[in-house]
Amino acid sequence: MYDLAVIGAGPVGSYLASLCAPSMDVLVLEEDDQAGGKACSGLVSPRFVNMLPEGVRNSVVQNRVSAAIIHFMGQSFEFRKKGTAAYVIDRNALDKELASHAASKGAEMKYRENVLMIENVKDSVRIKTSRHTFEAHIAAGCDGARSASARAVGFRPAELLNGLIIYSTEHSDSDTVEMWFDKSIVKDGFFWKIPRGDETEYGCIGKNLSFRVLEVFFRLGKADVRRSAAPVPIGPGKSVAGNILLIGDAAAQTKPWSGGGLAYGFIAAEEASEIIARAVRTGDTSKLGLYENAWKRHLMKDINAGMMLREFYKDLDIGALSSVIENAERIKKDDIDFDFPFSSSMLL
Ligand SMILES: Cc1cc2nc3c(=O)[nH]c(=O)nc-3n(C[C@H](O)[C@H](O)[C@H](O)COP(=O)(O)OP(=O)(O)OC[C@H]3O[C@@H](n4cnc5c(N)ncnc54)[C@H](O)[C@@H]3O)c2cc1C
Repeated sequence: MYDLAVIGAGPVGSYLASLCAPSMDVLVLEEDDQAGGKACSGLVSPRFVNMLPEGVRNSVVQNRVSAAIIHFMGQSFEFRKKGTAAYVIDRNALDKELASHAASKGAEMKYRENVLMIENVKDSVRIKTSRHTFEAHIAAGCDGARSASARAVGFRPAELLNGLIIYSTEHSDSDTVEMWFDKSIVKDGFFWKIPRGDETEYGCIGKNLSFRVLEVFFRLGKADVRRSAAPVPIGPGKSVAGNILLIGDAAAQTKPWSGGGLAYGFIAAEEASEIIARAVRTGDTSKLGLYENAWKRHLMKDINAGMMLREFYKDLDIGALSSVIENAERIKKDDIDFDFPFSSSMLL
């Protein structure tokens, strides 16, 4: 029997496995035949980049961002920071590097293991995949937006949005990302453009979106492009049941205003790793429930504010949006924290 079974070799699962593997037997079950390949912009904070193991950090950064221009009802606001406000990372390389880092720390990585069912059995967890049955004292569901583990815990995110990306071959070394909020096209989301060096990324997030909406908005042709899409869960809740913990997108630990989840997933994985290590060391799994308060203490203030802002934006009419624009001018733009914008600005 393993001490810990991690479901999913995405960034959060591999990061958790690398933190736990030095002190316990860790199994990672991944449905695909390798890590990587998920749709993601990889726009992350310096905080997130600093959490990465050094070898991984050096091989995934593609560009640095110092400014964001937000286009909102015909007006544009520039938020510029001295130094690096955010990094653009290669998400495919990130997943692969983190998975091999977890293996180098001693985690047993098993691919082509599609987890179909997880259940608490006395003081352990039974995991059935399409090919095998595994047992572990503890299971960490890091299996993303359509998590099988979340079903076992009885959790569903408040909303499931679509995230769509089109990469064009336009070279761009700019240090500025741009975002467009246009309620007449996307009621509950936004469009973005990210410079990635060899490519330029065009994306959008919201409900019921298609690539056609993105192509029309940015007037993109069909040639020289790659397309990628994935669901984005918004609105966390219950994250523990018995010896099963949910971490990352499986727990909807994402920013409700953007869908970004890498930093939040890593913060929660660090909290989980300490609680799991204590349970394995003492042989007492009865305190695993502490994990829920631990990650919520870090993340829920900004997630709650983001959820309120989302609802406010969705329901607001165009007239009322004008006063939001006036107030936006008052935000102290230099001090905004990429991961915790509400706690770090005068909005909270
Ligand atoms: C278009 C788009 C753009 C985004 N941009 C950003 C961004 O710029 N910055 C940011 O921070 N976040 C961004 N995100 C969100 C980010 O991608 C997620 O928060 C992040 O991937 C969460 O990592 P995870 O490891 O929890 O889940 P995932 O990355 O989804 O990994 C889950 C893993 O579990 C595996 N799996 C799933 N089901 C099973 C199963 N049944 N059995 C076995 N394995 C399974 C999957 O194959 C996958 O490898 C974006 C998302 C989208 C869709």
